[in-house]
Amino acid sequence: MIKKRNLVFLGAPGAGKGTLAQILCQEMKLAHISTGDILRSEIKNGTELGKKANSYVTSGGLVPDDLVTDMVGKRLQEKDCQNGFVLDGFPRTIPQADLLEKVMVKHGIKLDKVVYFEATEGILIKRLTARLLCRKCNTNYNTVFSPPKAKGICDKCGVELYQRPDDSLETAKDRLRIYNVQTAPLVPYYKNKMLLATINAEQAKDKSYPELLKVLV
Ligand code: AMP
Repeated sequence: MIKKRNLVFLGAPGAGKGTLAQILCQEMKLAHISTGDILRSEIKNGTELGKKANSYVTSGGLVPDDLVTDMVGKRLQEKDCQNGFVLDGFPRTIPQADLLEKVMVKHGIKLDKVVYFEATEGILIKRLTARLLCRKCNTNYNTVFSPPKAKGICDKCGVELYQRPDDSLETAKDRLRIYNVQTAPLVPYYKNKMLLATINAEQAKDKSYPELLKVLV
């Protein structure tokens, strides 16, 4: 069993945060809060928030801090978060981290650990551009490292897989540039708060998952 249950997963796009968050949350009954998944679903459903976020998500830019922080603040108050949660892809800027802290203090929630998924840029580009996702259950595949059993079809749902438009080579490079400028400073930020644990995210998930569990005991 793990003791640390209120978590932030930090790392560049393609580092495998979503993949390990899905496995961990299912096994430990934690709420998986992926801001990217929520935004994509808002866009698909044509909501007000979706309309505001669309151009940023499509171009690989960051959605304004207040919009995302509001969204996360509301989500954290839902009942399933009481048993613990993984924030996957949030915070992505120092102002978002400051706002998160305020929201948590307000609602009496304590952050237990920030897990940093460390990986080099070459691997990230390879992973992002070969990534495929299930339209129904969001499971991640990779045409090189972890292909589905049947080409282009989800092993679990039998549904067609798709490539995220922002996983094209050009947009993936832009997202990594933005990560380096806006999000990477969160590594020393959380280190200073004594919350950071680093895992080697260059390995396959059967190696990185046990490493993740170790830092959460
Ligand atoms: P992800 O699925 O985490 O790669 O996120 C996909 C896209 O959603 C990002 O490129 C941003 O446009 C947007 N997004 C997700 N999380 C955030 C966040 N915390 N702050 C701003 N934009 C975000």
